[in-house]
Amino acid sequence: MTEIIDGNAVAGQIRAELTGAIETLTDAGSQPGLATVLMGDDPASQTYVNMKQRDCEEVGIDGVHVEIDGGASAETLYETIADLNDDPDVHGYLVQSPVPDHIDYREVIRRIDPAKDVDGFHPENVGRLVAGDARFRPCTPHGVQKLLEATGVETEGADVTVVGRSDIVGKPLANLLIQKADDGNATVTVCHSRTEDLATKTRAADIVVAACGVPELIDGSMIGEGAVVVDVGVNRVDADTEKGYELVGDVEFESAKEVASAITPVPGGVGPMTRAMLLYNTVAAASAQTGVDVDLP
Ligand code: NDP
Repeated sequence: MTEIIDGNAVAGQIRAELTGAIETLTDAGSQPGLATVLMGDDPASQTYVNMKQRDCEEVGIDGVHVEIDGGASAETLYETIADLNDDPDVHGYLVQSPVPDHIDYREVIRRIDPAKDVDGFHPENVGRLVAGDARFRPCTPHGVQKLLEATGVETEGADVTVVGRSDIVGKPLANLLIQKADDGNATVTVCHSRTEDLATKTRAADIVVAACGVPELIDGSMIGEGAVVVDVGVNRVDADTEKGYELVGDVEFESAKEVASAITPVPGGVGPMTRAMLLYNTVAAASAQTGVDVDLP
């Protein structure tokens, strides 16, 4: 029987444990604060920040949301960033991507105080992660690690193929999995759009992580018998539904399920973990900035 990995359940456990830590911080007069910044009116981004704010409310984090007109200058965004860097009640914040075309996203990231960079995208935090001294693990890769751990999947000695090399998923995940650590120690192959013979690389893996943004690219014929499949992808494809679309992953779930020993569904797999790990990083940031010790899940 193939195990369908329940990301909602694992994320729920992590959120429950974080709630205790948030109470401890709040009782000590240091309620964790998370700000989200949205520039422009991209509907998907709007949905993401709304979910992040709702998550904050549910667990007792003080959520603040800042909206900036899509036509505003870069300076306007930089002023908001400077204010958030200075605000002692905001322990972590993020600027939702994508930003409008006239904004240099890398410069935006560089201006965020690394101690408040709960996405883990600031160059200092990327460097620390690569060096094995991560301050914040980026939320999606960290969520994937937690999901594997909760499922009892050992990464030590495993051959892992990661399909995708983005700065937010593929690269940090590969870097985390090769660390000399209990949730690392894997042998990692990173694939991308120029990879030749992708199927050979995915079939050879004990664990396949699909993060390429191509609907159902990885099918059952590309998965080795008994492998664990983690599908990070979230793609909207046209469908005869009320909304006119449905969400599918980067893995063709039905055929992959036939050969995998365990697989994450879309939705309900990695997505809820990403959200939970943002709360985790916010609590970690609050604890580090206030000096109030808490146990993290
Ligand atoms: P990007 O578009 O930034 O990166 C995609 C990567 O996949 C690139 O490295 C690209 O290669 C590679 N790729 C594209 N096509 C192929 C192909 N045919 N074969 C092999 N590799 C390919 O995407 P993200 O990393 O931001 O996101 C990946 C997916 O994960 C998306 O579906 C996104 O929606 C989803 N996502 C889900 C999250 C969640 O919480 N569940 C969070 C973040 C993302 P190259 O570098 O050569 O262009």
